[in-house]
Amino acid sequence: MRALTYHGPFDVRVDTIDDPTPFDSEAAVVAVRACGICGSDLHIYEGHGFSPDLGFCVGHEAVGEVVEVGASVSRFRVGDSVLVSASTGCNDCAPCRAGYVLGCERGRSGCYGLGSMLPGSQAEYVAVPAADGNLVAIPEGVSDDAALVLTDNAPTAWYGARRARIQPGDTVAVIGLGPVGIMAVLAAQVFGAGRVLAIDLVAERRAAAAALGAEPVEGDPRLVVRELTSGRGADVVIEAVGADATIDLAMKIAARGARVSVVGVNQSSAFPMHMQLAQFNELEFSIGLCSVQRELPALLALTRAGRIAPEVVVTHHLPLSGGDDAYRLFHSREGGVGKVVLDPSA
Ligand code: NAD
Ligand code: ZN
Repeated sequence: MRALTYHGPFDVRVDTIDDPTPFDSEAAVVAVRACGICGSDLHIYEGHGFSPDLGFCVGHEAVGEVVEVGASVSRFRVGDSVLVSASTGCNDCAPCRAGYVLGCERGRSGCYGLGSMLPGSQAEYVAVPAADGNLVAIPEGVSDDAALVLTDNAPTAWYGARRARIQPGDTVAVIGLGPVGIMAVLAAQVFGAGRVLAIDLVAERRAAAAALGAEPVEGDPRLVVRELTSGRGADVVIEAVGADATIDLAMKIAARGARVSVVGVNQSSAFPMHMQLAQFNELEFSIGLCSVQRELPALLALTRAGRIAPEVVVTHHLPLSGGDDAYRLFHSREGGVGKVVLDPSA
């Protein structure tokens, strides 16, 4: 099959690799109709990925059709239209049954396309372990673009907003307005934010957030957020970049008693937190990775009800056969690019 594979920094290739087969009786194979490129893929692309492996198939966001199921799969059949949640669990232990796959007690918490261990989904087919727990039927009325954003970006943003305990009327600042940050803007609105302040280096991304009702922060965020909040700072700050500098910024634009919630993937092993400031301001700090399965029930209901529109982050549909160009484009953040969706049939 055709697939995108990683060969080193800035070297993602369109390749031909073996079709996947189910790992065991609990697994399934999905024919991918659409797959997304995530900001986490850019960490790999830039050469600071999650494993030293080379040559593996990348990608962890996919929607498609089930084409093969193992004998123990009971909730899905060949022909079902599904979204493949980016996070995986065993579907057997108590945390996984509750959707908290990051807490898998059998050590089977994972994600596609971060290394050779679990091949990715930027391909014509993807093998899905413990399919009953790691596939979700796409409800009627939910488009493929929406479902694709629901595999990872929307749940991550929702998780960040949920952990920040946004109260009605809060001023929420979102740092980083890629697809995850834009979804965080929408999540903050659903949680009842009074104002959402949108921070990014890219003017077009600030404009995209403004078009959705956020207030773009133009100029130095440290000064502008203070100005916009009469010196107080933001009640909640969501960091959706994945850099020490933006976590530091988050702490510095936070109001007294604020919650700072980090979802950007950060690979630092030490971070110079301004303890005096954090303590004086009684900041709450949360950071984590999203268990997609846990966030999806609420998000699917909100999507079906039309209260949240995950598809708004999608800006480009490109062929998988041009995957190397698609990575370059998403990495450049130029020309109004947001979420890039790839078509494996083209
Ligand atoms: P993206 O790369 O499209 O977005 C990052 C944005 O941050 C860009 O718009 C960039 O311009 C902006 N940015 C960079 N430096 C900045 C700075 N100094 N100040 C302000 N803005 C700055 O990626 P994305 O797909 O939106 O993902 C965002 C982050 O979320 C990534 O780190 C990704 O790995 C992470 N992520 C985490 C999870 C999770 O489970 N926690 C899941 C998916 C993605
Ligand atoms: Zn992701």
